[in-house]
Amino acid sequence: MAETIFSKIIEGSIPSKKVFENERIYAFHDIQPAAPVHVLIVPKKPIPSLNDIGDEDLAVIGEIHRVAVQLAGELGIADSGYRVINNCGADGGQTVPHLHFHLLGGAKLGALTG
Ligand code: 5GP
Repeated sequence: MAETIFSKIIEGSIPSKKVFENERIYAFHDIQPAAPVHVLIVPKKPIPSLNDIGDEDLAVIGEIHRVAVQLAGELGIADSGYRVINNCGADGGQTVPHLHFHLLGGAKLGALTG
């Protein structure tokens, strides 16, 4: 599988502003934030997209959402509200082919549009 920019960030060869790491998950600030808080939460396993998750990945997908809640608390947006998004494939706006979830908040977010 081709190495993506997120694999390089996880292994540390490209710098990032890390906010969380364990054996399975790495989270860091987005380089082009779309909101005052914009964090990317990424499984270390290089799953290309949501289309590619298997039964063996269900636990880490759940854990990523627990990490999102934890980070929302730590980053001060838990009470005001936030959004967790996955973009899947070209029409979904996915630009990096390594599964990731966006945690967005810190301001009133716009309505989702097609
Ligand atoms: P996607 O469009 O695939 O859902 O999201 C990819 C995200 O990765 C974008 O929000 C983009 O700004 C972010 N991104 C791309 N390259 C880098 C990088 O080198 N460092 C960081 N921190 N974020 C990146």
